[in-house]
Amino acid sequence: MYDYLIVGAGLFGSVFAHEATKKGKKCLIIDKREHIGGNVYTENVEGINVHKYGAHIFHTSNKEVWDYVNSFVEFNRYTNSPVANYKGKLYNLPFNMNTFYQLWGVKTPDEARKKIEEQRAEFLHITEPKNLEEQALVLGGRDIYEKLIKEYTEKQWGRPATEIPAFIIRRLPFRFTFDNNYFNDTYQGIPIGGYTKLIEKLLEGIEVRLNTDFFENKETLTKQAKTIVYTGMIDQYFNNCFGKLDYRSLQFEHSVLDQENFQGNAVVNYTEKSVPYTRIIEHKHFEFGTQEKTVVTKEYSSEWQEGDEPYYPVNDDKNNVLYDKYKELADKETNVIFGGRLAEYKYYDMHKVIEVALDRINKEI
Ligand code: FAD
Ligand code: UDP
Repeated sequence: MYDYLIVGAGLFGSVFAHEATKKGKKCLIIDKREHIGGNVYTENVEGINVHKYGAHIFHTSNKEVWDYVNSFVEFNRYTNSPVANYKGKLYNLPFNMNTFYQLWGVKTPDEARKKIEEQRAEFLHITEPKNLEEQALVLGGRDIYEKLIKEYTEKQWGRPATEIPAFIIRRLPFRFTFDNNYFNDTYQGIPIGGYTKLIEKLLEGIEVRLNTDFFENKETLTKQAKTIVYTGMIDQYFNNCFGKLDYRSLQFEHSVLDQENFQGNAVVNYTEKSVPYTRIIEHKHFEFGTQEKTVVTKEYSSEWQEGDEPYYPVNDDKNNVLYDKYKELADKETNVIFGGRLAEYKYYDMHKVIEVALDRINKEI
């Protein structure tokens, strides 16, 4: 008999399992995939830690969370500074003085502010942006929206930018300094040796069963544990009884190239519609690799369908309303804890998942 059956060996499940075990509880953690780590899983190819499910950069302003992850693995000093390619021209991201110079040739913050005021002038009547398009136009005006946001966003989400929530573009900094750091957080880095090492440390001494789908073994598994921690899709848990939630899925095309340096940066976004992928990742640059070969990944976005991996919740009004109905059912379950990106249907970054998992376990035990 286990105290906790933890469904999903991603970050939420692994942190929960680690903390519960530390408090003397007996845990079994299962995952339907053939490996631990969920979407942060990294795999060593040609001496390079490949982020199998897309670029993962750890960033947080929460010192407790930063100290927590650093207590398991050492982090390097990687700072994310993606480059955008729009019709063959390169722009720095996030939106900063380098970008403004590349767009308009403006050299000082005053010149940049003046230019952006001009660009925003026709949108000043929008006082409360209702969607991503309005939010982007109010923030940076027409050129930035048309070259760096609209087509990328519509590829990524498969919907018009007018149907995507405004908060999604507010994830990106907008600043009047020559600073290409994609995040504003105090701490940032990549675990030296890959994220899988972090998860292995979290799960040390804990029973793990891979290739095990909860729903295929529900009856036997449920009988073996007092409490279930569920980190899969919330709608699936309830048999889609109110209908299916929307998710975005991704396809990753990994290739090993017989060259040392393909693009000179870990992340290059392709912000135009006519390029079918959203970004190309060159993994060695996350860890300043000097290997002879390189591994690159093209990332394609698609609407989630049965059988695909769900990666992003689609937090528009329609789906949030549906989620609330599932949440109501979840709150009535007495021995099931729902946590993480899929079970809470939230666009959580890694640090947030850890924060929520630590908080949950402290309330629980
Ligand atoms: P998951 O990692 O999805 O883990 C859930 C696990 O449950 C999975 O392993 C799944 O196989 C398993 N599971 C589901 N259903 C079942 C079932 N029925 N039976 C058994 N097992 C099941 N965050 C950042 O902070 N920085 C970044 O740069 C960043 N980049 C990202 C890039 C991409 C492309 C994506 C998709 C996400 C990114 N994130 C990033 C977010 C990060 O991946 C998540 O915050 C984190 O992985 C969520 O952890 P989780 O445990 O909630 O979910
Ligand atoms: N985005 C954009 N252009 C870019 C990068 C991002 O318009 O070059 C928008 C897009 O809508 C995306 C959102 O900003 O979904 C958040 O970007 P982020 O890089 O945080 O997305 P993630 O890495 O989570 O996919």
